[in-house]
Amino acid sequence: MGKVTVTFLGATATVTGSRFLVESEKSRIVVDAGLFQGLKADRKRNWDPFPVEPSTIDAIVLTHAHLDHCGYLPLLVRQGFRNQIFATEYTIKLAAVILRDSGHLQMEDAEFAAKKGFSKHPTPLPLYNLDDVEKTLNHFTEVPFRKRIQLTQDASATYFPSGHILGSAFVLLEIDGKALLFTSDMGRSNHPLLASPDRPPQMALDAVITESTYGNRVHETPMRSFADEINAGMKRGGSILIPAFAVDRTEVILMALRELITDRSIPNIPIYVDSPMALTALDYYREAVKEDAPELGAGVGERWKSVDPFDPGNLHQMRTTEQSKSLNELKDKSIIISASGMATGGRVVHHLANMLPDPKNTVILVGFQAAGSRGRSLEEGKKEIKMYGKWVPVQAHIVKVENFSVHADSNELISWLREISHSKEAFVVHGEPDAQNYLASRLRTELGWKATVPKTAQVYEVG
Ligand SMILES: [Zn+2]
Repeated sequence: MGKVTVTFLGATATVTGSRFLVESEKSRIVVDAGLFQGLKADRKRNWDPFPVEPSTIDAIVLTHAHLDHCGYLPLLVRQGFRNQIFATEYTIKLAAVILRDSGHLQMEDAEFAAKKGFSKHPTPLPLYNLDDVEKTLNHFTEVPFRKRIQLTQDASATYFPSGHILGSAFVLLEIDGKALLFTSDMGRSNHPLLASPDRPPQMALDAVITESTYGNRVHETPMRSFADEINAGMKRGGSILIPAFAVDRTEVILMALRELITDRSIPNIPIYVDSPMALTALDYYREAVKEDAPELGAGVGERWKSVDPFDPGNLHQMRTTEQSKSLNELKDKSIIISASGMATGGRVVHHLANMLPDPKNTVILVGFQAAGSRGRSLEEGKKEIKMYGKWVPVQAHIVKVENFSVHADSNELISWLREISHSKEAFVVHGEPDAQNYLASRLRTELGWKATVPKTAQVYEVG
């Protein structure tokens, strides 16, 4: 057995840019290739050259479809990666939706910068374009859950359902006699459709690479506060805007609204989903429910056989730009769900520009807001937010409801990791520094593990 190393190329001291390089003497594997989002300093890192020649990567393991895990793939392909990208059925389907959207946004940003002269470059280029995205999709290879897949001569991967989003997996990577477990984004047991995360494989591990998004927090449970905030918002007489990640969060929110309307906790008001990407993802979720996909909870397919789980009763799906714009003229109280979840782009930005100046309106934040995002500025109570090059006053009511998180919290992570019989070392990634350090200290004191918070580009030998 030779040397096996892990290099932490992203998701160090941040929740975005998940990229890990695992190397043995014979193989070079990349686990996730995500985009950096949020802070400008982080986003700039998307333009840095990849530290190894992409043509020398033997295989890519993709854990799930979120942009901060898959959004860098088109760049690797453009720079010469020519092998397979392994992922589950719904990760492939949802990644196609997310990457095409990302390709569009990259191209729009470049055009916008060119028009306004924002960029220092005379002709700003997109990070990648739609052509790169289509080429990337050709590299996807579908893998089943819970079955060991040979990646290279000395490396195999096993994908287990992780309960985070449709298709998501935590992955056991076995390479040259070493066993590494990547939790990726670990889900919870409260998803309305997905099964709880599988138990970790019962074997001794050489390294666990764990996320820590909520490594220093414990989620509150009640649905109550969501209903309270909606009712309070209705009382103020305005409309409610919910910025939500297009994939999964929109589905979870719709199912929660359905439940609240059914038990009359909130009135049956019109609900608009205004994000083409969210609507495409919604169709895949409907398909998964119809097919009773393997990552769904027991009885989910049966329960929703003849009813649409995502229609609270008054659902409007706004696919075209005209439909989206018509929402600006809405006179009746309504709930608008729009992406992106951190208001870094997408149609939600024009809704914010339209709705924030009116104190009758309410914005409900339902997801993690990364440092540097507009969502984070709202969460922190900033009085003005910059949009389309202009400052918009924040008069609307801003509230945060945390119970929709699809990330395990500190206690949930610890109790899941506790089921691992033994790990020589843990690396805590995918969290802001406080969360990382807190989780690492819990791993040391409660599980007796060696726990490290890796720095960017740091290389560790495993085992
Ligand atoms: Zn995720």
